[in-house]
Amino acid sequence: MSSAAPYRRTNLPLAQPATTFLWQSAGAGRVEATGECPECRCVTTRVWEEIQYVTKGPSGPDKQAFDNGEPKFAQCHCPTWHVNRPAEIPDGCGATFWIALPPQGLSL
Ligand SMILES: [Zn+2]
Ligand SMILES: [Zn+2]
Repeated sequence: MSSAAPYRRTNLPLAQPATTFLWQSAGAGRVEATGECPECRCVTTRVWEEIQYVTKGPSGPDKQAFDNGEPKFAQCHCPTWHVNRPAEIPDGCGATFWIALPPQGLSL
């Protein structure tokens, strides 16, 4: 949205995780969270792979490990060009942040 925002390395605090992300399953062992980067407000997607989240059976051990209520670490990968972004950085605004799991837990 605000492409004028310059690239800046920012680490947002764990104590204020993003709560507006949409969580969805993207196939076996893949979970995606999509939402607004709390720093630049662009839409970005964080993908977790091979977490064995989708298991046959009620609740595998890896699912519980992932869905443990702890916010998940993410990095902005928005496609927007933010000025001053180093050439070796392909995307994002430089922000790292945390994404809160849904209060009711993941229901993927
Ligand atoms: Zn961003
Ligand atoms: Zn951005």
